[in-house]
Amino acid sequence: MSTALAPDAAPETPDAQPSGPLAREALALAAFDHVVAHAPGYRARSGQREMAAHIANTLSGVALGDGSVASDAPLPARGIAVVQAGTGVGKSAAYASTVIPLALAQQKRVIISTATVALQEQLIAKDLPALATTLPQPFSFALAKGRGRYVCRLKLDQLSGGDAASADLFESDDSTSTTTDAAGMAAQAVASASAAARWQERGVQYTAWAHALDSGSWDGDRDRLDEPPEGGLWAPVAAERHTCTARHCPSYNSCSYYQARAKLAQAQVIVVNHDLLLSTLGLHALPAPQDCYLVFDEAHHLGSVAQGQFTASMDLMRGQWLDKLPRAVEEVAGAIEYKPTIDVAASARELKSAQVELARLAMQRIGALPAWLDLTGRAAGRAPVRGGGGFNNDAGAPVVDRFEGGVLPVDWLEVIAKMHAHASSLLKVFEALAAQLKATARENPGDAARCAKLYSRLGVLAPRLQSAQETATYWMQQAGDGQPPLAKWLEAGVSHGLVTLTAHACPLQPGSLLRNQLWNQVRAAVVTSASLVTCGSFDHFLHESGLAWDGAVAAREVQSPFDHAKQGRLVVVQTQADPKDVDGYTREMLSLLMADLREVERGALVLFTSRAQMRQAQGLLERGEHGALRDRVLVQGEASRTVLLRRHAERVAEGKPSVLFGLQSFGEGLDLPGELCEWVFITKLPFASPSDPVGQARADWLKSQGRDPFSELVVPATGARLLQWTGRALRTETDEAVVVCYDARLLRQSYGRRMLKGLPPYRLQRRVDGALTEA
Ligand code: SF4
Repeated sequence: MSTALAPDAAPETPDAQPSGPLAREALALAAFDHVVAHAPGYRARSGQREMAAHIANTLSGVALGDGSVASDAPLPARGIAVVQAGTGVGKSAAYASTVIPLALAQQKRVIISTATVALQEQLIAKDLPALATTLPQPFSFALAKGRGRYVCRLKLDQLSGGDAASADLFESDDSTSTTTDAAGMAAQAVASASAAARWQERGVQYTAWAHALDSGSWDGDRDRLDEPPEGGLWAPVAAERHTCTARHCPSYNSCSYYQARAKLAQAQVIVVNHDLLLSTLGLHALPAPQDCYLVFDEAHHLGSVAQGQFTASMDLMRGQWLDKLPRAVEEVAGAIEYKPTIDVAASARELKSAQVELARLAMQRIGALPAWLDLTGRAAGRAPVRGGGGFNNDAGAPVVDRFEGGVLPVDWLEVIAKMHAHASSLLKVFEALAAQLKATARENPGDAARCAKLYSRLGVLAPRLQSAQETATYWMQQAGDGQPPLAKWLEAGVSHGLVTLTAHACPLQPGSLLRNQLWNQVRAAVVTSASLVTCGSFDHFLHESGLAWDGAVAAREVQSPFDHAKQGRLVVVQTQADPKDVDGYTREMLSLLMADLREVERGALVLFTSRAQMRQAQGLLERGEHGALRDRVLVQGEASRTVLLRRHAERVAEGKPSVLFGLQSFGEGLDLPGELCEWVFITKLPFASPSDPVGQARADWLKSQGRDPFSELVVPATGARLLQWTGRALRTETDEAVVVCYDARLLRQSYGRRMLKGLPPYRLQRRVDGALTEA
């Protein structure tokens, strides 16, 4: 956690609290005006005040909870200000300078949730410190991070010194395989020796971290280490919910995670990301939504984050954790004299046999070669892939196999029911053991260290059991009355020479998830982004985010202060080849692109719709006629984003042309003002991948309801992406830039025109055979 300015200060009590909506609205707007008048170098912007006024008005009538358990009293009024703020409005200042004073005046707290680390850093390092020094009432703020960003002191102490036996406590993975043949045993011996050496090496690092914690030179936050540790080094000592007894842990008082949480409890403003916010709902890690003001910035991500949060997945290839499970349960149960009510070993065996059977059925369905997979024996999940495997396709991409309508083959249902039954019974044993361990630690504090260690033993296995049970639960669910079915699919591939096979399932409508899990509890919120309006309306966003029928929503579009028609041009290039003719179009588009790149004098950005397309462009740069361009191009993935952007800025500063090649993540997050980006080249309309199983399942469902998924889902989602991509061009009121889109469907097709409607009013031109005309 990072805290700045009066970090440990208790929330201040204002002399007088504003009692009515009008007083609150006036207070919030006065605070905004104060900031505009007093912040050094600040300049009034009309759109920003419009946004501040909308927020102040929408939230003024809201009454928040008091943090107590819900009573029978009627629900207080709610207010959700949805604001699309065009680039340059200054939205973070607009919401922070209104919402924070409103919250402080009522002794409430504020949670600001973002989608990207970049915005979190901007808020914590720049925006909030500046605001805290400008507002008459100072406030404390902090960044909330997930538990896994902190070291677990208990694990660190046990693993310091490199004892591989202790390491086993925290690994449920199939890091070794059981075997009986000579070659296998020899390989296993080598593997064991190298694992021991690895743990010894790691132990040295863990010991150093433990010393750093003891001396106070490190606070246990992964991000504060000099060198970011590799995942394999960090994972065994990361704090984790399933292995943590919290107050019953002997290291609780010195625990980095709980210390960070204690500081968070003092902060009046908490910055968080959407993932963490959604994943901790109901866990009391953050203030309850009904008791605080919430701000969702970069809110256009809410639907996809919710979808990810509620996807259940189960690994079908790795089953050795189930061999370890009976011994772990026996040890823990024996240590606290608990007798499980089921035969744990038999249940684990049955669960494993169901998993193996499901993997076999899945492989048969996908069409892989079962010859190199020993699904019933020792090598399950460890088999090397031979060429020609059914899913080892040329591109090396995983194969996705979706169950249409969420309907599984009948002969699978018995296996899945078996899996569900055994995973559920074993989870009950785990829950009973966990409860008993906590009770023992509570009643006998001297025994807490032993109990915490035993708890960890179960904790590494529990997430696997939960995944199996959740996925089986989803897979058994049938479509309800008028309700959409769940999306269910298999994903197979090869990773580090090993076969991977995973079963997935998730609900189809992120909006319903958010409505049920989040919005039902929220009373006061600001929901904002530069791209909530697509194709000229909020409809798509409101549906995706679960706010479509929420009476508390007041939506407003605040225009960018930029003069798009003067500052920018959008040039749509007419190609001979139809974009649907992928090869022909790509060839022609790349040839036009290469010619255009020769015209770049300073910074430019090329956004590709697929990695394959970007690779083809790279390929051209490596060859003859376009080889001269290679030195001016920086490709996403060649180096870290920070390094690429630094090199780009250096080249432009030296007066050299510099072109960034990137994919979707560059289309959204980059801020390249002035000369850093005078051209944005869009290689094709950014439709989502047609192989996305959830998108396909949603499309099928809409079609079955007589609706048009292309018009309802695909066009608005692509329009939103296009708005983000074109938004890279103008970043300040003095920028001038050209956006070139090679996909003429933008002008030719009615859906393209719909997307255009959602873009700022650039000067629009058509280019045919090099000749420009106004469009
Ligand atoms: S309280 Fe939990 S996270 Fe902290 S040291 Fe103990 S087990 Fe680890």
